[in-house]
Amino acid sequence: MQPLIDNARSFREQCAERPEEFARLAHGQSPHVLFITCSDSRVVPALITGARPGDLFELQTAGNIVPPYPFQQPTGEAATIEYAVEVLGVTDIVVCGHSHCGAVGALVRGEDLTAVPAVRDWLTHATPRPQGEVDDPAVAEAVQSHVLTQLLRLRSYPCVDKRLTGGQLRLHGWFYEVHMGSVLAHDAQSDTFKAL
Ligand code: ZN
Repeated sequence: MQPLIDNARSFREQCAERPEEFARLAHGQSPHVLFITCSDSRVVPALITGARPGDLFELQTAGNIVPPYPFQQPTGEAATIEYAVEVLGVTDIVVCGHSHCGAVGALVRGEDLTAVPAVRDWLTHATPRPQGEVDDPAVAEAVQSHVLTQLLRLRSYPCVDKRLTGGQLRLHGWFYEVHMGSVLAHDAQSDTFKAL
């Protein structure tokens, strides 16, 4: 923890080297991209994309799961998606899964999650259940199909569907390899993930 505290203490000095960039953030935000990915510490959206403050609206959930719509009660995830689309008017949404994902791996391997009931219940949103090679530690195949499921899920949100129909919004499926630093993107024509 201490290195993080030390950096937070000196961060203001780093900001002072870019005074105009940080000063304009006081006037609001207008990110063009909603980036949905896993809570996994190895996935750092700004590091992967080179995004600066104000560039990405981010949603990180266990297993980058988009909860189903309609929902029985409001969720933070749905609120984040709705705000990004309706208020901020993002033009692109990226769902980025990653290799070696613990959440998807638990589903593929059918792990016993009774000790973590909140995780177990959250992962019930992952329908259809991701399928893939049980012996593949990267669970690549399962994560990639899981990403496509979340893109379909997004389409069920009325605010997303409306803007997709109007040509104001694009959806992207990415797969990030944590051990390689490489990003693959879903190619609709071939229905495969290819290097960006
Ligand atoms: Zn993950």
